[in-house]
Amino acid sequence: EIAPQTFIDKPQLWSSSFPRPRLDSHKYTRGHAVVVSGGASHTGAARLAARGALRAGAGLVTLASPPSALLVNAAHLTSVMLQPFDGADALTTILEDKRKNALLIGPGAGIGAHTRENVLAALLSGAAMVLDADALTSFAEIPRDLFVAIAGYFAGPVVMTPHEGEFGRLFPRIAEGEGSKLARARAAAAEASAIIVLKGADTVVAAPDGRAAIAMNGGPELATAGSGDVLGGIILGLLAQAMPPFEAACAGVWLHGEAGSCFGPGLISEDLPEMLPAVLRDLL
Ligand code: AMP
Ligand code: MG
Repeated sequence: EIAPQTFIDKPQLWSSSFPRPRLDSHKYTRGHAVVVSGGASHTGAARLAARGALRAGAGLVTLASPPSALLVNAAHLTSVMLQPFDGADALTTILEDKRKNALLIGPGAGIGAHTRENVLAALLSGAAMVLDADALTSFAEIPRDLFVAIAGYFAGPVVMTPHEGEFGRLFPRIAEGEGSKLARARAAAAEASAIIVLKGADTVVAAPDGRAAIAMNGGPELATAGSGDVLGGIILGLLAQAMPPFEAACAGVWLHGEAGSCFGPGLISEDLPEMLPAVLRDLL
């Protein structure tokens, strides 16, 4: 019943929908991505993601920052803009600007009700979403039927990027089942009505309609702090440019893997966004 798996080590699967800047493009036509920052002691993850989104081609990137983290973020940003927010209502207000068309939440966000409320506010805005890290774990704490009901409200495209630990917390029944990694990702995508990027050495991307692909092009140099945050940012940048979510997830995983392989030994996560221009030059 499992359709033949597709490997995304080559870009043919998604290259026709990959965003390419046009002669008449301006920054607003290339999308405005928003990354939600964590508090003062957890800001690096969101800044890594923001840089990934910019390097992936988003026209503008705004970091939505809690008051406690404003100064540390401001001191470390140049091309990324900064907007203060102090909770779900403020996030809703930020997203009332409909040019802000894609949002990433989770890296450094903290686990708990405040992150759940921020996720729900963002979902209701209709922006395309990447949910990663603490945004996923925060939903592991609420009853399953509530999660599924919330999934039914998802107004825009949603991409979830769990590693195996986050996947096990969010989808415990599926994680404990017998299925292959491909089957587990597919089942989760159907349950959550979202694109699932189940990360690891063999990252699986699965869609609710049953499409699925496996990426093997990333190497173990990607196993470093902040690597997944950059991946979330790259996918965010592609969503901001209106790439369809399954293709954006596949392309993001591929670009992330290529960036790591091209850099090679000694990689730290800051290097991944900086490798993207070389990878993109060969692709575009
Ligand atoms: P995270 O755990 O959220 O920081 O994400 C880690 C990122 O690195 C994901 O994109 C993983 O797929 C990737 N990664 C981690 N370990 C490996 C590995 N051994 N081989 C290839 N990719 C890896
Ligand atoms: Mg992570």
